Amino acid sequence: MAATSALPTSPSGSQSVEEDREPGRSRMETALSLLHQKDIEILKGVLQVNSALLTGAPDLAALRRTLQRGDLIEDLTSEIEDLAVGLKDGRGRQLRRIAVAYRSLLFDLQMLLDGVIAKGNIPKKLYRQIADDCVELVGLIEESKSRFWDLLASTDELTGLLNRHALEESFEIAFERSAKSDGLVAVALIDADHFKALNDTHGHDFGDRALVAIADATLGAIRPGDAALRYGGEEILVFLPNVTARTARSIMDRVRQRIEAIRLHAEDGEEVQVTASAGFTLATREDELETAISKADEALYEAKDKGRNRVIYRARQS
Ligand code: GH3
Ligand code: MG
Ligand code: MG
Repeated sequence: MAATSALPTSPSGSQSVEEDREPGRSRMETALSLLHQKDIEILKGVLQVNSALLTGAPDLAALRRTLQRGDLIEDLTSEIEDLAVGLKDGRGRQLRRIAVAYRSLLFDLQMLLDGVIAKGNIPKKLYRQIADDCVELVGLIEESKSRFWDLLASTDELTGLLNRHALEESFEIAFERSAKSDGLVAVALIDADHFKALNDTHGHDFGDRALVAIADATLGAIRPGDAALRYGGEEILVFLPNVTARTARSIMDRVRQRIEAIRLHAEDGEEVQVTASAGFTLATREDELETAISKADEALYEAKDKGRNRVIYRARQS
């Protein structure tokens, strides 16, 4: 399972809450339901072509036209393209693989019908090819469905970040990605500043939208192999593989700046700015995740104490 989260990254880090985009989790839900629907449709479509051929359908040309129009097996390419764009990591790629396998099945089905119409007999080789296409496609769809389910279970509903179910696994994955730095992973805790006051002033829904913007800003600032999880209410945990204290600081500072750049518009038109504080430490494979998190938490506490909107590093053995 991939460790980075599902939301599309924002190019600027500054965004308005009116921005129209679907969060990662609902993109995955849409993809999952699309795959469910396709699975059944493809099997039905292939079965129909099959039985028409075997029983000698009265009008194969009509069947071919139905196939071509997409009445028999509806086109999924455009839907998949739309979804794939917003999904990070291997998920978008996997959807595209399905689209390719799907197009090839449709193409072969049409060729088969063409051949039968022209020559009056079923080309055995093509027929076998279609059976293989179909098995491969349904296999790909099943594999994707199960991966999407896993991801959905470890995705935070509001922000589309990973949730606590993914904690241990993401920590593991971060070490797998840390070969170059003698296995050092930065563990960072980000906590929104004065968030209670923000809720009190503008309401809980506004607070929720601010959390989504903070999550997006974080994802936009970390690197592709990094992971961001919603650790608590207004807390995000970040794993940065393959870093020194210096690189981790510069990445975390970028996260802090992106959050600082967020501008939200309240109902009365007021422009609202949010900030966050962060604490981080470095962990080795031998370190317990819990210990690393409490070090990061100490550093976070210090960041709050020193006036917030800053990043503080605490060494492992301090
Ligand atoms: P500090 O700068 O010290 O972190 O102050 P704070 O107000 O952010 O910290 P505190 O722990 O006192 O309050 C956290 C607030 O975050 C309180 C809680 O209602 C809010 N919060 C937690 N989860 C959510 C959420 O999912 N949505 C919204 N809107 N608010 C949340
Ligand atoms: Mg907090
Ligand atoms: Mg807070």
